[in-house]
Amino acid sequence: MERYKILKQQLAILGLDGVNENFLSKAEEIRKTGLDYIDYLAELINCQMQRKVERSVNYRIREAGFPEIKRVEEFDFKFQNSIRREEIDKLLDFEFVERKENIIFVGPPGVGKTHLAIGIGILACERRIRTLYIKAEELLEEMKIAKMRKRLGEYIEKLARYNLLIIDELGYMPLEEGDGNLFFQLVSRKYEKSSIIITTNRSFEEWGAIFKDEVIAAAILDRLLHHGVIFKITGKSYRLMEKKLDNGNKKG
Ligand code: ADP
Ligand code: MG
Repeated sequence: MERYKILKQQLAILGLDGVNENFLSKAEEIRKTGLDYIDYLAELINCQMQRKVERSVNYRIREAGFPEIKRVEEFDFKFQNSIRREEIDKLLDFEFVERKENIIFVGPPGVGKTHLAIGIGILACERRIRTLYIKAEELLEEMKIAKMRKRLGEYIEKLARYNLLIIDELGYMPLEEGDGNLFFQLVSRKYEKSSIIITTNRSFEEWGAIFKDEVIAAAILDRLLHHGVIFKITGKSYRLMEKKLDNGNKKG
């Protein structure tokens, strides 16, 4: 018993939680299956490796700053038939990140643009791809503050270090004069260097109006779309459908 306690303490000091939590059950398993000492060691090292991977994935997910956790597996492609599962699945080898391509989800509110963007982002984190989620409004706010402090270059460099930048809800809030220019600086810095996912409720024809500048909007789109995949989601709002169901239940 004493030996067991000391071992537990030593493993805790060494930070080997994966070994600590598994060495007894694994010893039992090994005894039953008649494997040898090396197998036992390999099993325990494996447990510890898994912990390490989990920790670094969790770290990536925390660092990404998702407002909520949404998974691609939870997305109902039958409900949303303007987008095919295979098209999304094709992205999940994350070669698009290696090729520094962009993804743009265009469509009305409630159709699942944010859900898919976050879902892809979470899987990217599981691949340990450096990912950051930010709402367009917050991004522009941060850029303006950085510019005021003469730190815009630094801020853009910080964003450029993420291999996948998810910019959500472009076009929901009215933009100000000069926002187009800021956005353009970011997009040109990331152009052919790292990937962006954008979600927007506005069609590309409207981007001139969003940015209040046709020339800047065209320049932004030019860079985004040059190596980019566009998903136009046209279906019904999942939010409204859920609401209707909810009301129906209340009545019934
Ligand atoms: P958008 O960003 O297009 O406005 P969201 O992605 O925020 O829409 O979706 C609204 C809500 O509905 C979220 O809770 C999301 O998880 C859910 N949702 C939307 N589409 C689907 C779908 N096809 N399957 C499952 N949940 C969905
Ligand atoms: Mg959204």
